[in-house]
Amino acid sequence: MSRPNIDWPTLGFDYLRTDLRYLSHWRGGAWDGGTLTGDNTLHISEASSALHYGQQCFEGLKAYRCRDGSVNLFRPDRNAARMHRSSARLLMPPVPTETFIDACRQVVRANLGYLPPYGTGGALYLRPFLIGVGHNVRVASAPEFLFSVFCFPVGPYFKGGLTPTNFVVSRYDRAAPNGTGAAKVGGNYAASLLPGQEARGQGFADGIYLDPETHTKIEEVGSANFFGITRDGKVVTPRSPSILPGVTRDSLMYLARERLGLEVEERDVYVDRLGDFAEAGACGTAAVITPIGGVQHGETFHVFHSETEVGPVTRRLYDELTGIQFGDVEAPEGWTVKVE
Ligand SMILES: *Cc1c(COP(=O)(O)O)cnc(C)c1O
Repeated sequence: MSRPNIDWPTLGFDYLRTDLRYLSHWRGGAWDGGTLTGDNTLHISEASSALHYGQQCFEGLKAYRCRDGSVNLFRPDRNAARMHRSSARLLMPPVPTETFIDACRQVVRANLGYLPPYGTGGALYLRPFLIGVGHNVRVASAPEFLFSVFCFPVGPYFKGGLTPTNFVVSRYDRAAPNGTGAAKVGGNYAASLLPGQEARGQGFADGIYLDPETHTKIEEVGSANFFGITRDGKVVTPRSPSILPGVTRDSLMYLARERLGLEVEERDVYVDRLGDFAEAGACGTAAVITPIGGVQHGETFHVFHSETEVGPVTRRLYDELTGIQFGDVEAPEGWTVKVE
């Protein structure tokens, strides 16, 4: 096992070539056995539908080093299930859940030296992806597919951790009303590159996307899900067919209800009613929880109650979630899968 020389506290969210990645090929109607390879490049047909028609989907999850030295995967079955839905939407063959979790396990075990130590706050980010390959230039599903999982160590996605961050309501849409917003596909991300750059150019961390039909309701915060805490202590997350159903969002709603005893609502979140919320945040595997300090919407800048400090409910949710992920707090049944 290699022992890379990594300065754990300064880790951000950047690609780093690790030792081994998993690769499996679907051909003639079936997946092969899959292998670990040291090669971090792919050799695919120039006519691959992943390149021309965006036939690809991906996932993101993390492995966490616990205090006792063991390693947790957080709810990998949920990522496997979501990849099934994404692949079905894009006519790609499903990766069986057992294969998906086994591939993640193998990749973590093969790169243990890159797993940030307990207490640094870092984790090993896993990136499973599925792409259409083979010779095909017609707008039709690819004849072959690749499923791969690679990994790299990460710190917090938005630098500053639990520091409130400002976002701007985007003038663009990331998805269409009956489009692919609920699937974790590259096309949604391609559509978000320009809005993201514009938002950062204006001094914001990222753009907030409204519902593509009426442009009145909050859907996503960059590539993370929105949640808010109402002034009377309810935890609210948007309901919409075009948001990406995040594992973090689902977990936070469960923890808010079952562990913190709070009322939870999935409902419309009107962008002109942000005053209803005492706290708000963005959540996702990469971002974990990023408190939202303020939201620029046209000429108005809405400031949340605690612009400079994380709110109390957000803090409790963060502690409960990360406590479970790092094995310090008892996990709900089936949430953590031991790799080691
Ligand atoms: C991946 C993703 C999220 C967060 O999902 P998690 O499962 O919590 O990581 C939120 N929004 C978008 C658009 C995403 O792609």
